[in-house]
Amino acid sequence: MTYRPPPSSPHVSAHLSQVRRRDTAPEMRVRSLLHRRGLRFRVDQPIAGLPRRRIDIVFPSARVAVFVDGCFWHGCVKHCMPPKANAAWWQEKIAGNRRRDQETNIALAELGWTVIRVWEHEPPSASAQKIHAVVMEQADRSARL
Ligand SMILES: [Zn+2]
Repeated sequence: MTYRPPPSSPHVSAHLSQVRRRDTAPEMRVRSLLHRRGLRFRVDQPIAGLPRRRIDIVFPSARVAVFVDGCFWHGCVKHCMPPKANAAWWQEKIAGNRRRDQETNIALAELGWTVIRVWEHEPPSASAQKIHAVVMEQADRSARL
């Protein structure tokens, strides 16, 4: 968190302290639903060939990489409202995150991974269902190869 500008007010500071980046409640709910569906996976993993990136949920044998993107940090059009103080800095920060997400998607695809991104605002049951379907499809495909 070294890249944050100094909070300009106690209000902004309080807001930012609530913006967590890892093990967020929506991600935990999706993980628990996937587990209940009998799926096994790793969390917060690096992937060989892709330095300086970590994947939220990884299905190694199906080669499926899942990201549960936070609305704030990943610039969800519905919910991302950067603080008014330092607005330009925040806009650039979030635009940079989005570019990085795109680069990560492309790099993973080139390494043969299927990438799924769900928003933290999506109903966890819908996200889990979508992820389950893709993992099953990819697992079938790799079994046939
Ligand atoms: Zn959102």
